[in-house]
Amino acid sequence: MKTSVIGYPRIGELRELKFATEKYFKKEITSDELEKTAAALRRRHWEAQSKSAVDFIPSGDFSFYDLMLDTAVMLNAVPRRYKDLGLGQRGEYFAMARGYQGKEGDVKALAMKKWFHTNYHYMAPEIGDDTQISLSGTKPVDEFVEAKNLGILTKPTVIGPFTFLKLAKYTGKASAEDFFDAIAAAYAQLIQQLEAAGAQWISFEEPALVYDLSKDEVTFFKRLYDAILGAKQKSRVLLQIYFGDIRDCYTEAIGLDFDGIGLDLVEGKKNLDLIASYGFPKDKTLFAGLINGKNIWCNRYAQTLQTLDRLSASVGSLVLGTSCSLLHVPYSLRHETVLPEAYTKHLAFAEEKLSELADLKRIVTDGDAASLSANGALFAEARYEKNTGLYKTIEGLDDEDFTRRPAFPEREKLQREALGLPLLPVTTIGSFPQTPDVQANRSAFRSGRIDAREYAAFNRRKIAECIAVQEEIGIDVLVHGEYERNDMVEYFGEHLNGYIFTKNAWVQSYGTRCVKPPVIWGDVSRAKPITVDYAVYAQSLSEKPVKGMLTGPVTIFNWSFPREDISPRESVMQLALAIREEVLDLEAHGIRIIQIDEAALREKLPLRKSDWHGEYLDWAIPAFRLVHSAVRADIQIHTHMCYSEFEDIIREIDAMDADVISFEASRSSLSIIDALTQCGFQTQVGPGVYDIHSPRVPAQEEIENALRRILEKISPEKLWVNPDCGLKTRGVAETLPSLKNMVAAAKAVRGGLVK
Ligand code: GLN
Ligand code: ZN
Repeated sequence: MKTSVIGYPRIGELRELKFATEKYFKKEITSDELEKTAAALRRRHWEAQSKSAVDFIPSGDFSFYDLMLDTAVMLNAVPRRYKDLGLGQRGEYFAMARGYQGKEGDVKALAMKKWFHTNYHYMAPEIGDDTQISLSGTKPVDEFVEAKNLGILTKPTVIGPFTFLKLAKYTGKASAEDFFDAIAAAYAQLIQQLEAAGAQWISFEEPALVYDLSKDEVTFFKRLYDAILGAKQKSRVLLQIYFGDIRDCYTEAIGLDFDGIGLDLVEGKKNLDLIASYGFPKDKTLFAGLINGKNIWCNRYAQTLQTLDRLSASVGSLVLGTSCSLLHVPYSLRHETVLPEAYTKHLAFAEEKLSELADLKRIVTDGDAASLSANGALFAEARYEKNTGLYKTIEGLDDEDFTRRPAFPEREKLQREALGLPLLPVTTIGSFPQTPDVQANRSAFRSGRIDAREYAAFNRRKIAECIAVQEEIGIDVLVHGEYERNDMVEYFGEHLNGYIFTKNAWVQSYGTRCVKPPVIWGDVSRAKPITVDYAVYAQSLSEKPVKGMLTGPVTIFNWSFPREDISPRESVMQLALAIREEVLDLEAHGIRIIQIDEAALREKLPLRKSDWHGEYLDWAIPAFRLVHSAVRADIQIHTHMCYSEFEDIIREIDAMDADVISFEASRSSLSIIDALTQCGFQTQVGPGVYDIHSPRVPAQEEIENALRRILEKISPEKLWVNPDCGLKTRGVAETLPSLKNMVAAAKAVRGGLVK
């Protein structure tokens, strides 16, 4: 039996690529130096896989920012405005990724979107009527040759044309169909080039096939590959799917001239049934995705072997692989030196997943009984003590626990009187720049160089500074700045029972940004007040309302590594009860506005519509309601969502019954506003008026224009003014002018309203 990996974490085991790239952005290293780091990482990653005897090692999974962006560049889908900057290849690439402001011009970045339901973000390619798709980049061939020169024969992998066209944003009249010939020719040519370079297997990643597909889309997929696959002569082509099953196109997929089909047997609920019902062609190889590419738990070998066994009955040639790219898991347990072995022995990150592939291969080929029984013993152990009272509380919840009274319109009146805010109140999403002094303070505390009192005293000074700055700029609803939080989820995890933490388990979120999700280990409950001290201190410094800042249960869950022994609903309800206690504590301490961030609520929406309610919304929305249902009517509940594409779940968002919601709107279009008005959305809204993911400073006029456009659709009583997300990743240099411009814009527009 052979083994295969779809993709490997590229950021580096100690985030070397992140640090090098950031240095490059700051002009501290040259383009060549950056490239050197990148090449060293690629080499290390190929060698690690080669050492683990992986048979199908990917190349082309490396990226300086994002693979969709790489694919756009490869296909010449580079919008004019970036080419016109004349920055050269790398400059143009990063301008698309991050926007650009300089003497050459001032352009925004491409839209950034969530990659399926992961916490990874991709750059959405823009295709206009004038886009000329052609194979114009050599990245897949270059990286294949680079590995070959190191003596490692890889399987080049690229995002396939169907997924590329489906996720692209069309800015003109042209649609995917108009690019059919061009893109088919480009991929055919790519096959020839890779073949000429010596590739034996080529992988096209087509995760978009797991969505609900229309008949036309299925036909389009089939026609595309009919046109492309004719190009292969000596090489073999793998259709690599992940993140779900392909119930809408299984028969078409196996009918095409692919040599291998890679199916996700972890998340693809129906894939096994599809194989059983429709069979699997004898002349093709099945790449069985059984090593979970998203979780951090050890694989249960007995179960994997059983599935392999079942498959071998209907499948002639079988390769064991990962369910998706290992990009979504941390690099290695080797750097987790603090976490006791009692925990780590249950975990498997990317490197350990390579060992699992090797173990399973040995078990199948040489019958390695020792590995098998050691693995079985792991799963026989009790891992934590059950909090039985908590399960009873959750079972006993009824409708009242999920309903806030009085209803929204009455609350809105009471809050208006209680808070006395101007029209178009200006606020921020919560965090302020995490400057080097903030990070230094945290690491001094972590390493024991300062004690808890010194640590907190520093944070208080920063809070006081932050409040003063906001007062000076003229912001209406203030925040304390979140200096005490390394991360909006880990911080809460650290204050809850049931969590464990890693030191270096970073996962790429977008570009150079990584997150370190905490791990839900046992039953979750609140150990003691979490945010109350700093919130009360911040409020004591200002007459204006200062928001209490919490992370909501669904987001904490979605950005943690979840347990797999209880249902997501159960875990989320445990979290909701814990955060509910915190909300009531803030209220009791005089906090008048409480923001409960649900940044990640949208991202875990199942990919298929038929699963939305039963598998997700039916417990996610109630969990949020449970958190705030017991607060007084005059307390204003805010929420924030990072991801603006929730047109299709607007009713559910409204049903969260928050009083105000802010969301990302600046990078994507403001189309959500239309959807809001159409469904009679009652919650007040703060569509982000500028993009914090880029260092660009928006001009006052630009923000004014955005506000005026929004006001054509939304009444001024309902509108808030805020950036599109927290400011923690930004520098002070761009943050202060941006906020000043935002306040000036709000004031100018407000002036026109109260004539
Ligand atoms: N309150 C958080 C912050 O401002 C929200 C972050 C987020 O939406 N990802 O950082
Ligand atoms: Zn956000």
